[in-house]
Amino acid sequence: MPGLTRTVLILGGTGEARALARALHDDGTWRVVSSLAGRVSSPALPVGEVRIGGFGGPAALAAWLTTHEVAAVVDATHPFAARISTSAAQAAPAAGVPLLMLRRPGWTAGPGDVWQRVPDMRAAAAAVAVGAGPVLLTTGRGGLDVFAELPHRFVIRTVDPPEPPLPGDHVVLLARGPYTYAGEEALLREHAVRTLVTKDSGGRMTVAKLEAARDLGIAVVMVDRPPPPPGVEIVADPDDVLTWLTALR
Ligand code: NAP
Repeated sequence: MPGLTRTVLILGGTGEARALARALHDDGTWRVVSSLAGRVSSPALPVGEVRIGGFGGPAALAAWLTTHEVAAVVDATHPFAARISTSAAQAAPAAGVPLLMLRRPGWTAGPGDVWQRVPDMRAAAAAVAVGAGPVLLTTGRGGLDVFAELPHRFVIRTVDPPEPPLPGDHVVLLARGPYTYAGEEALLREHAVRTLVTKDSGGRMTVAKLEAARDLGIAVVMVDRPPPPPGVEIVADPDDVLTWLTALR
């Protein structure tokens, strides 16, 4: 097909990355390759070409960019996927390939929200230790060992089964967003949740739990995002990615 001469690599695993792949695919100007880590058992797949699995670190990613003649990289990974973002921030300049990071904004507390911001999962566990249970954990399947020694009752919601060690008193709910307000309110009521632990992922797909928690007076422990790698240009709007890519042509 004429015009499909340049390749853009989208580092994905998010709804934004899938939407971007769709938009670029429909635009038809770029050859689009999306990359997934391969962490979840049946990932939502973007349209177009997809490769799955880690690259093997920054040097291997740089080599991959060169070998596959990638002309631009868009890091549209999850805000908490810090290792791949750091890897891209090292690999892209090494390979001489422009890099743009697409990051949705984080959430902001409003009137009625009872949030405690913490810097990491260990601090989240310390906050939970002195807080009330039952506790709803929505921080993903990994890193839950920090809660393992706590006596509270935990409701652990993940896409794939969580990695042990886990708290002694827990129930696992396997589910995948997006979630509705009605569903989240029902869940919080059913389990009599008193504390919700979440990462500051941002976006609409998983915000309903925060709205329901606010209305039910449930305390929220909000794990802050890791900082983005220094020196990388960041946009929040997918349209800005299209503008950036157009300017590269
Ligand atoms: P991470 O800690 O930043 O990455 C760990 C390793 O996985 C990376 O070093 C890289 O391996 C590989 N990797 C990660 N994302 C990749 C991608 N898109 N394509 C190819 N390799 C990738 O990431 P994570 O937190 O485990 O998240 C994994 C994936 O799930 C990400 O793509 C992210 O967008 C998505 N996700 C994460 C979260 C979250 O809360 N962390 C939530 C929703 C979705 P090599 O070093 O070998 O290249």
